[in-house]
This record gives sequence, structure tokens and C-alpha cells, in this order.
Amino acid sequence: MKLKEKVAIVTGASSGIGEAIAKHLADEGAKVVLAARREEKLADLSSNINEKNDGSAIVVKTDVTSKDDMENLVARAKEEFGKVDIVINNAGVMLLSFIKNDKVDEWAQMVDVNIKGVLYGIHAALPDMLEQGSGHLVNVSSVAGHEVFPSSTVYSATKYAVRALSMGLEKELSKTGVRVTNISPGAVETELTHHITDEEVMGMFKDRADRKKLHADDIARAVVYAVTQPDYVNVNEVVVRPMAK
Ligand code: NDP
Repeated sequence: MKLKEKVAIVTGASSGIGEAIAKHLADEGAKVVLAARREEKLADLSSNINEKNDGSAIVVKTDVTSKDDMENLVARAKEEFGKVDIVINNAGVMLLSFIKNDKVDEWAQMVDVNIKGVLYGIHAALPDMLEQGSGHLVNVSSVAGHEVFPSSTVYSATKYAVRALSMGLEKELSKTGVRVTNISPGAVETELTHHITDEEVMGMFKDRADRKKLHADDIARAVVYAVTQPDYVNVNEVVVRPMAK
């Protein structure tokens, strides 16, 4: 129970990696604030955590693209638990497409969720962390924030941006007691690819269906590692890839 008395916000907790992170943080004793748009999914997760971990999860319906929603999320966490120690900026969308197919609305959605969502999380939580002289911002980027793949041009641009935010924050905050971790997962089995609409890309994914993927729990363990180090240890970058089959 290395996170007893700690309060953690997890965005995108209604499925996949965010759901797994929330469970693992709760297992370590953290009080968890579950945020996403699908309230019923969050309510199910919250019941599971509360049954297992004795009343330590709450649900706050949140659209990360809304500054007001993100401010409300932090306010609700403070109302319920008194403070915020950890923010996992995990919510994201991966609407892979070839640029020539001109899915301009999907480009905008990725910029809004993947970049603005992280920025609003920082905006909402950082002032209190600076005041309390401690805190941990964990931003979920991707291996697509290290390399660009065919059809990942815009998605990669957003994930490179997340890494740039993490790197800049780490330098700016190094003397404040606020730690920053950038997590870059490789392919993880989740709902992430279900929203792709570019048929050429969907065809590519069918051809790769047998490729080895990580489990969401593999990423959650990396997050737990980063946030349970002694206060003077700042784990800045974690990249987790599946082994090839
Ligand atoms: P999922 O699709 O399973 O989860 C995405 C989560 O983001 C959902 O909980 C969804 O909740 C939430 N979300 C999407 N849009 C919004 C929004 N506007 N406001 C609030 N929440 C939102 O995918 P993953 O778990 O795989 O993705 C989690 C993160 O991991 C993403 O940032 C993704 O880019 C990153 N990642 C994933 C990889 C993979 O292979 N799976 C690899 C590398 C990085 P809801 O719809 O309820 O709002």
C-alpha cells in the first residue's frame, strides 16, 4: 500500500489503460477520481474499486476538451478528498488516417482531446500542486510520440506534443517538488482502434491482427512504478513495447 493517503485523478478511466491504471493505483491505497464521458462505465469501475478497496473511488463525468469540466474535476476531487497528489492525463483518441483522405474533423478531435485535454489537466491541477510543494503529473504519450508511422501523421503530431509538454514541464518544475512522468506505450489491446474510420487503415489493421500486443495492466504497472518512487526520484520517461511474436 505505497499510495495510502494519496489522491489520484485518472482521465479516460472508462476503458483500457486508464481503467487499469485506476485499479492499480487503488490497489496501492490511493483514493481515485475517475473521469471520462461514459458515466455508466465509470460507475461500474467505481463500484468494483469501492467493494475491493473500501470507499476510495468517485466518479466525475468529464469531457477533457472542456476547460470548465477539467476545473470542475479538480474541484470535486478536492471537495471529496481534500487535495490532489497525482494527475494521470491519459484520455486520448487515435483516429489514424492517411492525410490524403482529408479527415479534417478527426484531426481537430485528436488535437482537442490529446493536446488540449492534457493542457487543461495541467492548468486545473498545477496551481495547487505548486502551493502544496508536491505532486505528480503523468502524461500518456505513445511510441507514436517517438516515431511516425504510415497513417499516424496527425496522431503522432499530438503525441510528440504530449512528450514536448512533459519535457518542458519536467525542466520547469524540477525545483518545485512536482514530478513529471511521460509514459509511451507501444500497441496495447484496448478499444483505441475501434474508432478509426479510414478504410485503408482498417485494412492495414486486419493484416496485422496477429501481432503481439501489451495488456493495459502492463502499462498500469509502469505508472505505479513511476509514482511510488521516493520523493527525490523523478521518473521522466517510460517506454513500454511488446516483444515481437
Ligand atoms: P481506449 O479507447 O480504451 O480509452 C480511451 C479513453 O479516453 C476512454 O476512457 C475514453 O472515455 C477517453 N476519452 C476519449 N475522449 C475523451 C474526452 N473528450 N473526454 C474524456 N475522456 C475521453 O484507449 P486506450 O486505453 O488504449 O488509450 C488511453 C491512452 O493511451 C490514450 O491517450 C492513447 O493515445 C494512449 N495509447 C494507447 C496505445 C494503445 O495501443 N492502446 C498505445 C500508445 C498510447 P469516454 O469515451 O468514456 O469519454
